[in-house]
Amino acid sequence: LFISFEGGEGVGKSTQIRLLAKRLRARGHDVTVSREPGGTPGAEAVRHVLLDQAAAESFGPAMEALLFAAARNDHVEQVIRPALARGEVMLVDRFMDSTRVYQGMSGNLDPGFVTSLERVAVHGTVPDLTIILDLDPETGLKRAHARRTQGQQRDRFEKETVAVHEARRRAFRHIAEAEPDRCRLIDASGDAADVAEAVWHAVEPLLER
Ligand code: C5P
Repeated sequence: LFISFEGGEGVGKSTQIRLLAKRLRARGHDVTVSREPGGTPGAEAVRHVLLDQAAAESFGPAMEALLFAAARNDHVEQVIRPALARGEVMLVDRFMDSTRVYQGMSGNLDPGFVTSLERVAVHGTVPDLTIILDLDPETGLKRAHARRTQGQQRDRFEKETVAVHEARRRAFRHIAEAEPDRCRLIDASGDAADVAEAVWHAVEPLLER
C-alpha cells in the first residue's frame, strides 16, 4: 500500500506521517517512511543542491524540474518499489503532486514537459492514496516558522509571498477534485490528533483485513 502526503508549508505532513506510521505498526504492519526530495543518498544530495545551495537560485525551471524528476526516479526504484514488493506500507512526505504544483505552476513550463517528466520519474508507481492536507497559508507559514525557531533550517522555497502559497493551495485542491479516487482532501486546521483521526478514516478501509 503506497500513501503520499501532500500540501503546502506547515500543514503538518511530517507529524501526520509519524502518527500514522505508529498506528500502523501497532496494528502489525511493516511501514517504510520517506520524504521527497530525498529518500536515497543520491536524492538527498539533489535535495541539498535544490534547497540549500545558492547556485540553485540560478537554475532555470526546466533544470529544477529535471533534478526533482531524477531524485524521484531514484527514490522510486531504490526505496518505494522494493518496499511495496516486500508488502510494506510505504508512506512518503511529498511525491508527484508537489512537482505538479511547485514546478508545474511556478516555472512557465510546458504542461506536456511536466507530464512526461512525471511519467518517467514515477515509472508506473502511483500512490494508492494521496492525503492532501489543506490549511490556510497564514496558519501554515506560522507553523513552519515555529518549527524553524526550534532549529530547522529555512529553505529557499519558504521565502515566497502569501499569494504564491495561496495559489499552491488552490492547485492542491484542484488535484483533489480532479482525482477523487486517489486523493483525499483533509482539513489540517484542527489539532494533530483530530487530523490524525481523519487520516486514519481514509487509510483504514485500504488495509487488508
Ligand atoms: O516538505 P519539505 O519542507 O521537506 O519540502 C522542502 C521544500 O521543497 C519545500 O519548501 C517545497 O516548497 C520545495 N519543493 C518544491 N518542489 C517539489 C517538492 C518540494 O519546490 N516538487
